[in-house]
Amino acid sequence: MGKPRRVSRVFVLLFIFSATLNGILAISFGYTKLAAARLQTTHDESISSALKQTTQYKQERDDAQASVAQKNEQLTNLNAELSAKTKHLTEVETQLASTTAKLKTQEAQLAANSSELEQLRGRPPLFSFQKSTSRDVASDEADVRAIVTAAYDTIAAVYGDPYILHQITINFVDTDDLDIPGASAQITISNSSQGLTMEVKLPGFDKDSFENVNTIVHEIIHGFHGLAALNAPVMEEGITVAATDTVMSKLFQQGVITHSENFITLTAEQANQLNGSLDQPSATSSFYQSPRVGTYYNLAGWSWQQFYEEDSQFFSKFNTALYNKSVAGASLTPAVVREVIAQTVTSVNGQPVADFVNGQITLNPTSS
Ligand SMILES: [Zn+2]
Repeated sequence: MGKPRRVSRVFVLLFIFSATLNGILAISFGYTKLAAARLQTTHDESISSALKQTTQYKQERDDAQASVAQKNEQLTNLNAELSAKTKHLTEVETQLASTTAKLKTQEAQLAANSSELEQLRGRPPLFSFQKSTSRDVASDEADVRAIVTAAYDTIAAVYGDPYILHQITINFVDTDDLDIPGASAQITISNSSQGLTMEVKLPGFDKDSFENVNTIVHEIIHGFHGLAALNAPVMEEGITVAATDTVMSKLFQQGVITHSENFITLTAEQANQLNGSLDQPSATSSFYQSPRVGTYYNLAGWSWQQFYEEDSQFFSKFNTALYNKSVAGASLTPAVVREVIAQTVTSVNGQPVADFVNGQITLNPTSS
């Protein structure tokens, strides 16, 4: 019986052990399950949290990428702008360099020419006579020579020294040698390295004819402006007409000529009325084709005469300032001429010079 008891005990012990082990295992397994469940929860939570974070990171990344894209776009724009500005700057610099180079060349030329220029400007023009007609012109030539010689000094006193006027040739011709039949003279002006050359073709000359004498004096005064003739014909004619009347009245006072007529016949009232009713004349050579060209000559002459009435040195002061502009390379446009007028005289007939000039249609020609 002992044996089975022993077995039985062992069995009981085994059973107890087994049961305990099972219990422990069961508890352990339960615990493990619990732990696993906990772990799962923790794991789930951390996945969820990680997912959240990932989403956040993704958002941040997307935001950052959007921002980078935006910044890139801005950068591209800025680069394009910079490139455009650089290109423009290069163009401007190229222009500037080219302009500066041109100015330097002009300055060098002017410096090289200035002493020669001074000599040319200070030298009286050469007068010569030609005979291109079969008729006897000896008497005409003597008359022209007497008047031109006397007029030259008077013009220089009123108008200042001529500007690079090299030569004046008086050429006696037949009437049909003139381009305009019936004209009292024909002038051809040409430019050379020596200055200006003027040829005056005369079909005849009568020292007692106002028109004949006036024509010669008028054309020589144009010649005094030489290369500094005013760009707008109405302005160049106006100053010439006004100076010619001044010179002619001095020649009459000197007893050189026999007539005291004037080219300018307008009164102040008539001039003001014309300034308020006529169109501004053309600043181009089409001015000479205007049906009112004679009226414009008279009115322009009247306007310029007012400056002389203000200051008897006006013409020579104006021309000195004008020649300086011309030597400096300025184009003698109406605007530049008005500027030189304003430098020379401050008021006219009690009006500020700018107001007076504004009111004169022949000092404000239109470009067409
Ligand atoms: Zn003229």
